Amino acid sequence: MAGKNKKRVKELKKSYTWIWLIVFVLLIIISCVMVSVFALVYGSSFVSGKLDGERSIVENMASVYEAGVKRGDDTSETLSAFKRGYLILDGERNIVYSESADTCGALKDREEADNREYMSVEIGAFVYDADVYPDTEYPVIRQEDDEVTVDILHILQNTDSYIVESERDMFTEDELNDAELLEEIGFINESRERKMMIPLWMGLKLSDGRSEFIAKSYISVEVSDLVLLITVIAGVFLLVLASYVVMIINIISGISRRRKTLRVFFTDAVTQGHNYMYFLYEGEELIKKYRNRGVNYHVVDLDFVGYRNFCVCHSAEEGERVTTRIYQEIRDKMDRRKEICAHVGGESFALLLRDGDKETVRSRIQSIMDIVSHVTDDHVFVFQAGIETLEADANAAERKYIDMGEVYNKACAARESLNSDDPGIAFFDKKLIEDRRWEDNVQEHQQAALINEEFVVYYQPKYDPRTDELRGAEALIRWQSPDFGFVPPGRMIPIFEKNGFITEIDHYMVSHVARDQKRWLDAGFKCVPVSVNISRAHFIESDLAEQIRDLVDAEGTPHELLEIELTESAFFDDKKAMINTIEKLKSYGFAVSMDDFGSGYSSLNSLKDMPLDVLKLDAEFFRGETDGNRGEIVVSEAIQLAKKLNMRTVAEGVEIRDQVDFLATQGCDMIQGYFYAKPMPGEEYEVRMNERYKPKE
Ligand code: C2E
Ligand code: CA
Ligand code: CA
Repeated sequence: MAGKNKKRVKELKKSYTWIWLIVFVLLIIISCVMVSVFALVYGSSFVSGKLDGERSIVENMASVYEAGVKRGDDTSETLSAFKRGYLILDGERNIVYSESADTCGALKDREEADNREYMSVEIGAFVYDADVYPDTEYPVIRQEDDEVTVDILHILQNTDSYIVESERDMFTEDELNDAELLEEIGFINESRERKMMIPLWMGLKLSDGRSEFIAKSYISVEVSDLVLLITVIAGVFLLVLASYVVMIINIISGISRRRKTLRVFFTDAVTQGHNYMYFLYEGEELIKKYRNRGVNYHVVDLDFVGYRNFCVCHSAEEGERVTTRIYQEIRDKMDRRKEICAHVGGESFALLLRDGDKETVRSRIQSIMDIVSHVTDDHVFVFQAGIETLEADANAAERKYIDMGEVYNKACAARESLNSDDPGIAFFDKKLIEDRRWEDNVQEHQQAALINEEFVVYYQPKYDPRTDELRGAEALIRWQSPDFGFVPPGRMIPIFEKNGFITEIDHYMVSHVARDQKRWLDAGFKCVPVSVNISRAHFIESDLAEQIRDLVDAEGTPHELLEIELTESAFFDDKKAMINTIEKLKSYGFAVSMDDFGSGYSSLNSLKDMPLDVLKLDAEFFRGETDGNRGEIVVSEAIQLAKKLNMRTVAEGVEIRDQVDFLATQGCDMIQGYFYAKPMPGEEYEVRMNERYKPKE
């Protein structure tokens, strides 16, 4: 699978859910800690600040009391000016004196009476160096082991109990007496302020170190400040909450967006099913997942042969409709959880099948092909399949690093090896790789080989069986490659025909043969016509005859010394153009022959239309058992037919004496076969030209 796309899919597949969850929890913890620390620090300093103010009042009261005791005066009058309840305890914590101290929680019995559970919210807990006792009426603040605990939750839940209204204290005495000023600013001295008064009792040790002075105190907070504080805290809290909500929405929408993108990425535009990307990615995942389960996997390339033709004859839209039906039919025959079907594009489908040996999968594919061939009522479609099997045992370890693209390519190569347009199934094997590699090698080296004249012309003589005289020869190519050694034509001509290089080869052969013939003619050899093979692929060029004429003329060779061989299959392409080319060649003085007559297609029809000079009987006529008369009858009739059409005959592939004798009696004009000679280099052929054939003893 293309590396970049694989990476992209992996990125899209990652949801990062766990990471987001962890980040989310961490954020919540961090914000809780921050709010708590803020509340603790702020609350502690706030409460201790307030207590400090109270303590200085209690200190004042205590020093007034002590000074009075020293002087022997009664200070109760002076102390009552502080407008606070107070009491004095001796070393044994007995009450020495008490002034409206009914709610003081410092006394043992009262302390015990206050068995109310303090809320565990200890916001504002801190160490304080005076004794703080709860007020029995509102016991929300107390001290334990030097730690003052304020039950803030209780206060917040019962704010009304703590709120008192008092005159506002915002002007100095002088200002209040300045009537002019008050009038100017429209002040009406009715303004009152609301305060929250949290009662407690604060005790200080007297100078004897044992007795204690305890006075009622208040932590007073202006309600407006409190409201502001609560608003700020609530605001911060809401802000944090809102950002969490936004974050969660973002994560969820991100996940769903990724899912949608992935769906688009993996959906085929025609069938709305899975596409090639899905096949590559999910295929790899499936194979990796089950790599140790001992199952065979089969990667299949299933092709709709003639799909483009169907689209041209009907419409692209109709083609897509049929493709969708085919896709659905294939998918219905598969295990959707463990197998994959994808439309690769155009005529191709990619399948990943599970289980079974090669024969099982072959019959499965066959039954799928039987169904999809009849997917519409009015057509029978042709399908071909190529299969690459991943054997459970053989590739278990490799499967971890499987590349579906490569495996699918192998399946495609197997399908391409079927060649014809008939239905069929082919398995990939190693020989296919070798063939492809060889094709690549040839293609890579062909041009340089042509320039370096690595292609050599061999000549195979043609003899008259009645007189054993040399009558002609066929030029056959050989490749003397420094890299691959001696390469016979069967190993390269089909490749050249496929990649189009054959036209250059044909030109090369015509030129070289013409050059040789001219040289031999000038040197006084008894030259005979030499035939050159022209590939059918070359025949679609309308000026082929002119090309050949010009090449021969460039060497200054008489045209009658060259003959052109066409293979029978070439006659099937464009008859009119073919006849035109043959006529032109003949008008230039070249003889034209039909090669391989009798092999493959019926060529009688071609004989009717084509104005040919020579008929070459295919070597097949002379292979194997020359059993009785049947073969001889056919050959004899073919020779007679050629004669009636004014054509000369050449029998190819003749290897034995009896055949030569028989052909001689039938009036066959020439024999080209191992009996007389194998194809040979030019130098050897030179010798043959000037001497008569000597039959072997
Ligand atoms: P072809 O045109 O039918 O050539 C005849 C082939 O039969 C030659 O094979 C020749 O060596 C072989 N042959 C002749 N007599 C006998 C015999 O008695 N016994 C046996 N067993 N074989 C015999 P070659 O040279 O291997 O060529 C194979 C084919 O390659 C040719 O078949 C032709 O189609 C193609 N070819 C060869 N050279 C050229 C070329 O220059 N251009 C083109 N376009 N095709 C060529
Ligand atoms: Ca030939
Ligand atoms: Ca032939």
